[in-house]
Amino acid sequence: MEKCDLVVMKFGGSCLQDIESFSQTTKIIKKYLKESKIIIVTSAFKGITDKLIDFYNKSCKDVNSCAEVIEDIKQIHLKFINDNINKETPEYKDSLEFFELNLKDLVQLGRVIRLLRPSLDLQDLIISYGEKLSTYIVNQYLNSIGISSKFLSSDELILTDNNFGNALPLLEETESIIQKRLSPIIKSDTNHIICVTGFYGSTKDKKITTLGRGGTDLTAAIMAYSLSSLFKCKVIYWKDVQGFLDADPRIAEQASLLHQISYLEAKELAFFGSKVLHPLCLDVNEKGNIPSEIRPFNDPESNDYTKITKEIIKGERIIKAITSIQRLSMVTIESGTMISLPGTVAKLFNLLAENNINIKFISQSSSENNITIGIDFEDSMKISYLLRNSDWFGKQWFSIKIDNDISLIAVIGAAMLHTPGIAGKIFTVLGEQNINIRAISQGSSELNITIIIERDHCKKAVNILYNAFIS
Ligand code: ASP
Ligand code: MG
Repeated sequence: MEKCDLVVMKFGGSCLQDIESFSQTTKIIKKYLKESKIIIVTSAFKGITDKLIDFYNKSCKDVNSCAEVIEDIKQIHLKFINDNINKETPEYKDSLEFFELNLKDLVQLGRVIRLLRPSLDLQDLIISYGEKLSTYIVNQYLNSIGISSKFLSSDELILTDNNFGNALPLLEETESIIQKRLSPIIKSDTNHIICVTGFYGSTKDKKITTLGRGGTDLTAAIMAYSLSSLFKCKVIYWKDVQGFLDADPRIAEQASLLHQISYLEAKELAFFGSKVLHPLCLDVNEKGNIPSEIRPFNDPESNDYTKITKEIIKGERIIKAITSIQRLSMVTIESGTMISLPGTVAKLFNLLAENNINIKFISQSSSENNITIGIDFEDSMKISYLLRNSDWFGKQWFSIKIDNDISLIAVIGAAMLHTPGIAGKIFTVLGEQNINIRAISQGSSELNITIIIERDHCKKAVNILYNAFIS
């Protein structure tokens, strides 16, 4: 194992769900502590974020319906404290007090929501309690077993924009805050571990924001990024999988682990359906050139894990992975000349952006008489309504077709840059098996080639491509 001064480790909810998982977490921390300073970044206890969202929603409607979910939240935390922290220690009492105090605040917040009017910033404030509580309790647990540890709440460290629910970090400002706050602690001999809350930051005017679901990954990346000019850092994301696979094992049985992958490729994987990491954290790791590892939580010593680094290793394998999104909708807008009018595409994109519809795929024929986009299946009804009622697209000279039975397959590999013949081979192998390609697109970065096919053919096509390019 390469030696680092500082290891930032992310532990998600499944590492913090019961005595067994938590004792595994402790074992991992102790092992790494022998060699490096450690920052641990933790998610809420398993299931708590969903319960907090539920609490928020119920509070907006009828605060009297919240008792049950609050009781659930209470029991999960109390059980964790009672199961793990020795009752004779001051940390036990302290954790209970911290918990009771914060729970009271939370209940109070629920009561005022209806008066203040429901809003995304209140929702963010409420769900941040999950990470605040879990991280404080983990921190106190470590102190109770003699591992000196300091708790820091990430709203004091990470500055973000005002996009509540999916905020973006302001990296430069954040970097300097984190350096100022953390480097004296890391350099001092008294504190060995710093426990940082995952998932949230705050705006310049001190409102709590969250970084999107799964955002604790991003918090860990931001911590390493900010400290990497002062310390030799790496990030370890402890997960309930071994790492990135080269295909979805539910679709391609032979799917296997990728031991190394570049940031560029990993970002493509994270975007096209692999939910292993929050996609933005790869951007941040890449920017700071911070080596990252996705490691299996249940087998921490294993050599089977994914290392993500800057290098694009051009082995004999040009294609690294075949990924797919099975449920996708395809929207095709057609019109003789209208599409080519400047501004039509801008209007389409604005309509989508204003209504929070994410585009997964796009292609426009060069004759400019049609444009095709792929969107989440769940957004299909919404877009249909929006287009047909739009002043522009609802006009008779556009024809709008929406197809809900399609899938997207992405063939990914950074080494296909300047390698001719990949697209040709895709067409050939699929054509030989009578699989019709409905649309195709390739980013000019040449990191992936994306095709759209009928959903019925998805599994077969993934396997054909896997056999042709990987196995
Ligand atoms: N607790 C948050 C969530 O469930 C953040 C995280 O787990 O990374 O999305
Ligand atoms: Mg989580």
